[in-house]
Amino acid sequence: MPFIFAELGGLPCYRSPLLAAFPEVLHGFFTRRGGVSPEPFHSLNLSFTVGDQGPLVVHNRDLVQQALGLNGLVSATQVHGCRAFLVTAGNPASPAEIPDSDILLTQQRGLGLLIKQADCQAVMLYDPGRRVAANVHCGWRGQVANILREAVTRLQERFGCRPQDLVAALGPSLGPCCAEFRNYREEFPPELWPYQVRPTYFDLWALSRDQLQAAGLKSQQIDIAGICTRCRDEEFFSFRRDRITGRQGAVIALRLEK
Ligand SMILES: [Zn+2]
Repeated sequence: MPFIFAELGGLPCYRSPLLAAFPEVLHGFFTRRGGVSPEPFHSLNLSFTVGDQGPLVVHNRDLVQQALGLNGLVSATQVHGCRAFLVTAGNPASPAEIPDSDILLTQQRGLGLLIKQADCQAVMLYDPGRRVAANVHCGWRGQVANILREAVTRLQERFGCRPQDLVAALGPSLGPCCAEFRNYREEFPPELWPYQVRPTYFDLWALSRDQLQAAGLKSQQIDIAGICTRCRDEEFFSFRRDRITGRQGAVIALRLEK
């Protein structure tokens, strides 16, 4: 389904129609717009490790937290690995970061799971029955390691989730128009080569969709934005396009009970 463009607390963002159907869930795939960082991080950069000024990143994160009405944001130093971290009330929230994790899971209300990215995918997962949310930093290395299957397995083991109950939303990220891998024979195993849509270009959105389905999700419960970050200079940071640049944020949370 096409994602919905919205403004939350003055911040432009994209929302998944599938996730938006659950009133107990808050989420947004934010753009680069609406923040306070100067070039080349203009303006809503949420990463402390790209060369931007720390206090500005803190301010930008506060804007995101306020836009969603959350008590805090939790993020990790993302390392293109497959390690999962279970977020509970006792975790230090932003600006502290959980070490070396690319999967965040929680049942804690009011805490946003923040994934930072500039071309990589953020993939949100939600189990409406068990009220568990996850957010996954899924780059091509994560796809090679099948991090999405790992995330689904963690949800099954830790919370008893059934894959067929899960809803997934894959946000703006590198599209088949721009996902060139000249060394794909070294970088991708042969079973991923069919995702080549023309010489050296790959459809990483289709790959994630198929990996989610192989993990047991229903096709109609997978939402894909279909928006390429590299193509949209005004809206998104893109590492491929700019190299020295910021990171936009994708946040999912369970709403605080009123
Ligand atoms: Zn593109």
